[in-house]
This record gives sequence, structure tokens and C-alpha cells, in this order.
Amino acid sequence: MKKIIGGIALILSLAGLGYSGFTIYGAAKGALEKKSLNKQITELKDKKVKTEASLKDVTEKNNKLKKEYNQLREQRGIKVVYLTFDDGPTPNNTPKILDILKKNNIKGTFFVIGQNPDMYKRIVDEGHAIAIHTYSHEYKQVYASVDAFFADLYKLRDLIKEKTGVDPKVTRFPGGSSTTRVSKPIKQAIINRLTKEGYVYQDWNCDSTDASGNKVPVEKLVKNGVCNVREVNLLMHDAYAKTTTVEALQKIIDAYKAKGYIFETLTVDSPKFQHVKQPESAN
Ligand SMILES: [Zn+2]
Repeated sequence: MKKIIGGIALILSLAGLGYSGFTIYGAAKGALEKKSLNKQITELKDKKVKTEASLKDVTEKNNKLKKEYNQLREQRGIKVVYLTFDDGPTPNNTPKILDILKKNNIKGTFFVIGQNPDMYKRIVDEGHAIAIHTYSHEYKQVYASVDAFFADLYKLRDLIKEKTGVDPKVTRFPGGSSTTRVSKPIKQAIINRLTKEGYVYQDWNCDSTDASGNKVPVEKLVKNGVCNVREVNLLMHDAYAKTTTVEALQKIIDAYKAKGYIFETLTVDSPKFQHVKQPESAN
């Protein structure tokens, strides 16, 4: 009996020793792991600070270069035209417009709405700028409130992102920023929020007048669509009914080429063509 009790006691004490040894080993290992983890965290934090600093540096240099580029263009009197197409894409007109642009090796800016989204990709793939013109383009809907406007804008933004991978930051108000289809306080609040969220809206300073009716004669579109200012932001439409815009496009391009214009796309860094001015920064 004594032997058995002694045996059990021995087993228990050995187990206890083993357990405490394991605990000590575990604690030491844990402390070491924690130390190396802390070291890794410190290193990562360090790396993050350095990366952010260099990103800031690159961004500043980039902004400076963009500014210099715009100044140089102005000094040299370089003439620039931004061809813009609203209310598309449409299967009957947009591919023809893209073909013409491709043939001329020039790029345009497409202010799309939420229709035929599978056509967004070709626009982007061929080097054009894709921009937001709201999803529904329904004045009553988009201009009902600030939240309604942004819900519609985000819906289109997400669709463009999904179809092309592009997160567009250039927008155009349905009807332009001087539209009277929205109350002044709502418009101002929309402008402030756009600014805060890094969006730049673009109106136009040259109107082809293809929105004045359907099948506007080609001659009229060419006459109105070729303007004599150094920087031209030309409003056109690739909506279903705008077939004469397609017919006029090559003539418009030829006229600008003959005048020595270069063709560019609209980005957030482009000169701003705004009927209602956007503040430089959000307030
Ligand atoms: Zn429109």
C-alpha cells in the first residue's frame, strides 16, 4: 500500500515539475515572441513613416511639374482642345466616335451615364478619360437633395470602377453647373461636398449645340463646335439621337488640327472650365 501511495506521489510530483517547467518554457517563449513582434511592428511603423514622407515628396514634385506644364503651355501659347461627349455610351454612336478618335490618334473625355456599362471598358482601354455625368441624369432625381445627388453619383462611380477599375474624379453636372434645375443652397452644398471629396467638375466653353435638338445639321455643329480660344472645352453628346454629331466629328477635328491645336483629356489637373466656380479647397 505504501509503495502504491509513494508511486502515485512520485508520479504527481513529476507531473507537477513537468507542468511548471512547461509553463516557464511557455512564458519565456511567449516573451521572446512578443519582443520580436514588437520589433516588427516598430520596423513597419518606421517604414510607413518613410513611405508616407516620400509619397508626399513625390506628390509635391508631381504637382509642381503639372503646374509648370500648364504655365509653359500658356507662355508658349499652345492651343488645346478637350473633346467631350456626354450622355453615352450608346451602341449606335459611341463605337463610331471611338473609331474616329482612334483613326486620328487623339483622346477625348466621355461623361458617361448609367447605361450600356459594358461599353465603358473600350473607352478606357483606348486611352480616353471616363468621367461622371450621374447615373440617372434625371434632373428631378439627382437634384432632389444633396444626398440624392451623391447616391446617384456613387452608384455610377461604383459601376465605372467595377467595369474598368478606374475611380473617376472628374464630373459634369447634368445641365452644367449653372443649371437652374436645382435650388441654389442644394447646388452650393453639392459643390462643397464635391470639393471635399476631391472631385472636379467641368462645364464647357464651346458648345457644338448638338443638344439644341435632334439631327442638328452637320454644318451648324461644325460652325459652333470650332471655337477660337486658346483652350477649348467642347461640349458634344454621344446619346442615341445624336447621329449628326458623329458625322460632324471628323470635320471638327480637321478644323482644330488646321489651327494647330493639340487634343487632351480632362483630368483633375486640367484647367477648370466652370460656369459656377469651384472653391480651391473645401470649407
Ligand atoms: Zn447630359
